Formats: sequence, structure tokens, C-alpha cells
Amino acid sequence: MATTTMVELKPKDFKGKVDPDWCPGCGDFGLLNAVQKALAELGKKPHDVVCVSGIGCSSNFPGYLNAYGMHTLHGRALAVATGVKLANHDLTVLVTGGDGDGYGIGGNHFTHTARRNVDLTYLVMNNQIYGLTTGQVSPSSDIGMKTKSTPFGNIERPVHPTAAAIINGATFAARGFSGHGKHLVEIIKQAIEHKGFSHVDVFSPCVTFNHDNTYDFFRERVKQLEETGHDPSDWKSAVEKALMWGETIYTGVFYRNDEVPALHELEPILDEGGPVAHREPGLTKEQAQRVLKRMM
Ligand code: SF4
Repeated sequence: MATTTMVELKPKDFKGKVDPDWCPGCGDFGLLNAVQKALAELGKKPHDVVCVSGIGCSSNFPGYLNAYGMHTLHGRALAVATGVKLANHDLTVLVTGGDGDGYGIGGNHFTHTARRNVDLTYLVMNNQIYGLTTGQVSPSSDIGMKTKSTPFGNIERPVHPTAAAIINGATFAARGFSGHGKHLVEIIKQAIEHKGFSHVDVFSPCVTFNHDNTYDFFRERVKQLEETGHDPSDWKSAVEKALMWGETIYTGVFYRNDEVPALHELEPILDEGGPVAHREPGLTKEQAQRVLKRMM
């Protein structure tokens, strides 16, 4: 009788065929390593996972991960990923990108994906600058920051992505630091296992263009919430701590609510019959060919 052997995958099994072209020391490496480790530790297989991204240095991420991947339009990754999840809700859907892509161009999708509680994990490599376009102010740049587009200092107040996620209805909101790899792996594992929209803002220093928010800047300030006795079910405390930015900046899981149904659980058409992607299309061969022809 034939037997099936379960193969335990290692982080290296989630390494993509292409090597990252990020600058040496870029914070995005920390997240890539953490995601590969988290997927292996959760026992995921590459064919269980799809990674969707927008545009920017960090949005090259799907190419560096051994999983299904889509490199989409600037700011639109969450909209595409919502479609992927509704077409096949058995997949683990990751969305990766940067602060310009996600909090600027894609800010509207961030709001609505959170309130819809789409079951996906949104990992934002927040370096507080536009890196790919060589260093312009971004929606999360600090006041006073001098960049190519703000030579006299940034005059705009930055977004508060973690607080915004919670207020907009995210059922899991966390923050990590790419210089604290072990902690980041634990956060990502929780985010992936959470059923509903999970948002992880990751301090991911741009070593080439952001000389303010460096690894040392964060090492001096970052404190892990787990060490403070924080209760992630306390919505008000989560928002208050997420808004803190100064001598102490918290990382960890700010908010978690496992009671809210995810969008695919509320959608009547998905009630029975399994994922749409696995169903018979209900078209004749000729009809299917006509549809495909119109789409080509
Ligand atoms: Fe990373 Fe900045 Fe280099 Fe882009 S420009 S790869 S964000 S260090």
C-alpha cells in the first residue's frame, strides 16, 4: 500500500528564484526573512499562498517568495487581493508594499479592506519615504524631514497607520521592526492565523534615502507591547498606544478581535459549494471560449 510522507518545509523552501535587488542593509530583507520563516513554521506549502503587491522597492516582494504572486498597480494591491480571496478563500493571501503605495496612493483601499474584514494579511514595509523614486516625502514622513521634495523640511503631519487600521475596523492590527526578527516572525504568524483583515506596519529602514529613521533610531525607542501587559482586546488602549510616537514607540499586537466574521463568510454565494475557483463554470466549451476571446 502506498504511503504519503509529509515533508516539513524550511524557510529556504520559500525562497524565490530571483535574488532581491534591494540595497544592502535595506529593512525589507528583515521582513522577507520573517515571512519565509513564519510560513515554514505554520506548515504552509508554497501552493497554499499567494502574495500580491503594488509598486515600489518593497513591492518586488512576490518575486522573492516561492509562492503564487502578482505584482499589480500602484496602490491597488488590496483590491486585487480581495478578488483573489473571494475567488479562492482556501488560499493564504498576503499583500506586501510600502507606505507610499499603501497609505498614499492606496489609502482608500486600506480603509475599505479594513472595514470589510477581508481575510488577508497586509504587510507594509514602512520606511517613511519614497525609495524607488530616490527619496521624496511620503505620507508617513515625520514633520521637519528634509527630502528631495521637501528641502526646507516636511510641513505635513504624518498618517498613523496602526491607529487608522483599528479605527477603520481592522480586526487585527500590529507593528513590527525589521531589526527585531524573532518578534516579527511571531507577529506575522499571528496575523496569518487570524481570520479577517490583519495589518502589520513594519518599520523597515531605507538605508539609502532616509537618514532620520534609521535602525539606531528605532533600536533606541522601540518597546515591545508584550512586556507592558497590554491587553489586545482593549480597543481604546490599542488606539492610544498606536498614536504614541516619541521617546517610546511600541511594537507588537495592538488589537485583535476574533469574533467578527470575515467577508467571505458573509457572502451568500460562498455559503456552500466551496471556493468559486474550484467549481464548474456552468458554461459550455463554446461559451467559455467566447468569454476568453472577449477578454484577450
Ligand atoms: Fe531599500 Fe531604500 Fe534601497 Fe529601496 S532605496 S531598496 S527602500 S534601501
